[in-house]
Amino acid sequence: MPTAHAQAFWTDRFLEYDFGPFHPFSERSRGLAVRLLKDVLSSSGSGVLAWSHSVPVAERSTLETFHRPEYLEFVERASGLENEVLLDAGDTPSFRGCYESAARLVQGAVDALDFTVEHRRPAFHPAGGLHHAHPGRASGFCIFNDVAVAVARGLKGGHRVAYVDIDAHHGDGVMYGFYDSGRVLDIDFHQDGRTLFPGTGFPHEVGRNDGAGLKANIPLPPGAGDEALLPIFRRVVPPLLRWFRPDVIVLQHGVDGHFGDELARLQYSPAAYAEIDHTILSLAEELTDGRLLVTGGGGYRPESVSRVLARTGLILAGVSEPEVDAPVPAAWRDAFTATFGSEAPRRWQDPVSLEPTPWTPDDERSLIGQLEAKLGERFPAP
Ligand SMILES: [Zn+2]
Repeated sequence: MPTAHAQAFWTDRFLEYDFGPFHPFSERSRGLAVRLLKDVLSSSGSGVLAWSHSVPVAERSTLETFHRPEYLEFVERASGLENEVLLDAGDTPSFRGCYESAARLVQGAVDALDFTVEHRRPAFHPAGGLHHAHPGRASGFCIFNDVAVAVARGLKGGHRVAYVDIDAHHGDGVMYGFYDSGRVLDIDFHQDGRTLFPGTGFPHEVGRNDGAGLKANIPLPPGAGDEALLPIFRRVVPPLLRWFRPDVIVLQHGVDGHFGDELARLQYSPAAYAEIDHTILSLAEELTDGRLLVTGGGGYRPESVSRVLARTGLILAGVSEPEVDAPVPAAWRDAFTATFGSEAPRRWQDPVSLEPTPWTPDDERSLIGQLEAKLGERFPAP
């Protein structure tokens, strides 16, 4: 069997991170992404993606590389209760075993980071990307911040880390967590914080002390889609990464910017995600000798989350992607319906039907101008 091109981390125990049937966040969507990815890879018969199915609960000392001891004790107490308590201002309830299930997601990110640092091949952690949790509090469905612990792990190993976040929500836990760090470049695309949780991530937030000039925030208005995201991504991300010269790249690959998402109002298409995946992968080959961790993130429409993350896994595995109108495997459709009780998509992509975009070329000029002024960089049009 040939050496696998990439490694994915998934155990069904990640499904235990479960706020109940009426909560919008569900790892079941990520489980269906894994199922689709496996179904496609098994039919292609190649060993291009290895799997790690055994992920333990992270040790307390691992969690403490980002989280405060008193917060970990608070979550541990709540985790032992039968009845739920709120872990933040209202979006993130506790549940029995929440400490262990959240800590297992953290270990998934740590194992994936360690893998890519050691083996210089892409690592994929579709269940992770819980980027809102802060050192001392839960936030936005995120109890522990797996991706921040992975960044901290990279720093501890002496590495410079580039963190790119394409979730519809600003990755506040990660950005503020490393706001002073001169060894973390943070580039975050998201729906404008004036219109969406958590209400942060503006171009003037560029970092502090050693971190000054290393945090780039790109807010987009509700209704913006590929026409807004991709030109700015192409202008900003490659030059900033080439200038920073990271040792490892971490991509938080939330899918809630996809058109039709239940919680956000952006309109990205699957093609935009695929372009970003290919770009980041080639930047990792160019700059970090292949060291790349890709996590999941938000995403509240299972049909979108499962197919987009499965396609990302195929890209990381280096196999040819299905055509957008190709049918998805019948067995996967059955699994989807058994999980969600609704009809599964028939093809890899739905017909794209978008609302008119509010985005104009003037908006791009204005946003690029703000980024150039605040970061002291130039981002010429290609
Ligand atoms: Zn999100």
